[in-house]
Amino acid sequence: MSPRPLIALHDVSKVYSNGTLALQEMNLTIEQQQFVSIVGSSGCGKSTVLRLIAGLGKPSSGMIELKETQSSSELAFVFQESALMPWANIVENIRLPLKLAGVSQQKSRGLVQEAINLVGLAGFERSYPRELSGGMKMRVSIARALVTQPSILLMDEPFGALDEMTRSKLNSDLLGLWQQQRWTVVFVTHNIYEAVYLSNRVIVMASRPGRVVADIPIEAAYPRTEEFRTSRLCNEYSREISARLQEAVAGFEHHKITKSTDQLLDSAVN
Ligand code: ADP
Repeated sequence: MSPRPLIALHDVSKVYSNGTLALQEMNLTIEQQQFVSIVGSSGCGKSTVLRLIAGLGKPSSGMIELKETQSSSELAFVFQESALMPWANIVENIRLPLKLAGVSQQKSRGLVQEAINLVGLAGFERSYPRELSGGMKMRVSIARALVTQPSILLMDEPFGALDEMTRSKLNSDLLGLWQQQRWTVVFVTHNIYEAVYLSNRVIVMASRPGRVVADIPIEAAYPRTEEFRTSRLCNEYSREISARLQEAVAGFEHHKITKSTDQLLDSAVN
């Protein structure tokens, strides 16, 4: 099947009410079934992009197109914090989006169990969040997103708070699921290696204002093994992305220095 654009940002700018220009005329097209990661320094607008795609806020100008989606339930969001209800067991936590959508308990049962099995939590149905490790809580959070059977998965640094071993395991399990389910994934991360390992495309953003400075296809076949993680190819991509990020930061510093020099000159003249 040839790829079709599913998500398109056309000249999207976002100015928050306090005047922060978070995004400036950002253009980005994401095709169906792609796994796209967005990397960039803190504050460059990565979460803003995800939130706008999810419809949690509107662009100040420009347009976002979501094709082929009939309803917002086809879109699911996973945050860095697993944000589970501490008083509810795993089944109840995962059932929440179905409950909110008015799906009957009987109809939910199969969907919830399917999501639990997908993320490898069978046997923990009656456990409470406090009884689970950070990695397992994140699995619950992913299952809660998958229970509505979305076609687009938006993930905002989902593994950022996990230790390296747990992160690696969740990375490979997520990729395994993606290969089975083929959602379109937009994944925000600070971790360049994680972005390269997972994605078929990495978008590098620069800040103030947030914009795309590089769009790098990762041409490595799936399934991606542990060998790929430590391969020369993975390293070369990571080095290239790191260089683009450093250029972006250097550009920002240069802009700041030039601006402050201009301001000094201005105040000297006036
Ligand atoms: P990132 O995810 O890359 O860290 P964000 O999208 O969270 O960046 O933020 C981009 C910029 O917008 C930052 O300067 C941030 O402080 C600002 N920002 C984010 N959300 C708001 C908000 N609700 N109100 C005002 N400013 C915000």
